[in-house]
Amino acid sequence: MTDWIAAAAALRPETRLFLDGEFRPSSDGGTFDTITPRDGKVFAAVSSANEEDIDRAVRGAAATFESGVWSRADRRTRQAVLLRLADLMLENREELALLESLDSGHPISDSLNVDVPNAARTVRWYAEALDKVYDEIAPAPESALALISREPLGVIGAVVPWNYPLIITAWKIAPALAAGNSVVLKPAELTSLSALKLAGLAAEAGLPAGVLQVVPGLGRVAGQALGRHPLVDKIAFTGSPAVGRGFLTYAGESNGKQVSLELGGKSAQLVLADVEDLDACASAVAWGIFYNAGQTCHGGSRLVVDARVHDELVEKVIAVGSSLVLGDPLDESTQLGTIASRVQLDRVLSYTEVARSEGVTVNGGSQVRPVGLENGYYVEPTVYDHVDNSGRIGQEEIFGPALSVSVVEGAAEGVRVANESAYGLAASVWTSDLRTAHRVARDLRAGTVWVNTFDVADVITPFGGVKQSGAGRDRSLHAFDSYTSLKTTWIDIAPGPNY
Ligand code: NDP
Repeated sequence: MTDWIAAAAALRPETRLFLDGEFRPSSDGGTFDTITPRDGKVFAAVSSANEEDIDRAVRGAAATFESGVWSRADRRTRQAVLLRLADLMLENREELALLESLDSGHPISDSLNVDVPNAARTVRWYAEALDKVYDEIAPAPESALALISREPLGVIGAVVPWNYPLIITAWKIAPALAAGNSVVLKPAELTSLSALKLAGLAAEAGLPAGVLQVVPGLGRVAGQALGRHPLVDKIAFTGSPAVGRGFLTYAGESNGKQVSLELGGKSAQLVLADVEDLDACASAVAWGIFYNAGQTCHGGSRLVVDARVHDELVEKVIAVGSSLVLGDPLDESTQLGTIASRVQLDRVLSYTEVARSEGVTVNGGSQVRPVGLENGYYVEPTVYDHVDNSGRIGQEEIFGPALSVSVVEGAAEGVRVANESAYGLAASVWTSDLRTAHRVARDLRAGTVWVNTFDVADVITPFGGVKQSGAGRDRSLHAFDSYTSLKTTWIDIAPGPNY
């Protein structure tokens, strides 16, 4: 078994920007500290990209795109490089997982067994797909041939959050690179290190210099400069609604670039009275919100439950929550790691007061201070019971291990309450009746609906939301398409002198 604490002490992560195939400091030498949430201590100083660095990164990516070295490379060449990258990610699985756990507080067993393999599978899947997507011929008149072909868009600015750094990065860069684009990636300030490691692996896999630029930096500086850059053709963003809307403004005030947004949610797990297996349901409900300490955009943060099964289900959910092993992310037995930052910790903890002011019953919700890690950001699972769904606990994305429970009478009220949200990323319904399952799944306003399960996911299906959860989709061939532009080519084939 790996000694993760010793491995962390020996780790010397790459902290510089990755520009035009080389690691280098920012042009003004600026850095920001990265803190590990396991103990609240600084463990690296990361180069901070300024506007000049972003300009350089984008111009380099644009020049590389124009050169055709990647954008017009044979598809088999692109495929081989990306397949090699996926292999290298797995070969470097331990280091990637350790960086991810130190930066984000994910339990090391999750980073090893979920995050890294999932990200590598995404890269592999798009690599394998890229020579299986055919273009089209339109039903033009006999005198013409009309071709519809997919072309890469150009320079993609990918701006990602800290909750699943590697996975969400892979969701953006894998389809973008597979389609032949150049990418400028700005990781979240809290979690830049796995992206820098990935950049090194991409170079080792043979990705030409300038095709993937990685520019850690502050959102309001580096993120904004990328969003406003006139040579960026598309921004692919995951994060908060406020910043997502900021990217629409940047696009509108610059070159009208495309913007795809994934902005989180307040996903309802709707449990009807005829639920078949209450134990399975309780387990799915609990894991649906407590996994990754609730810092999951589609986390099932609202339980909307029929009064007839409320008491028994909530008791079981609390029991599952209490059974989870909360502790050091570097301990392989840990199931529930940390909140990612001090700011986020304070935000999550502040909701217990909100709950009390709204007359909600609060179960759990306290900060935990494991011995030796007293300054880390640990919070016990929280169940807010008897919540008025229209209040702040029912409406706001807490982004912590906090479940809001609202009681309803019957399926119709359940659907109404589940849909009573500004968000629409995901939802689930638990019922033993097939007709009800289909009707409710149809009526829930969400990008993904699960029936009698929660959080089953794979790169094969699209992921994204409706309403304020954003626009656009990650994963699947739909995402691949979104990194391409359709070109129409008309060819005159009217009868000529020779035929
Ligand atoms: P943000 O939306 O602020 O951060 C997401 C990304 O945007 C980061 O790379 C960030 O950089 C960048 N960014 C921040 N400000 C700007 C800006 N002004 N212009 C351009 N880019 C910017 O999320 P937070 O980290 O602040 O989280 C706040 C809340 O958002 C959470 O509590 C949660 O509710 C929600 N959230 C939702 C996520 C989801 O998966 N949909 C993921 C993360 C958060 P930097 O890291 O430097 O700030």
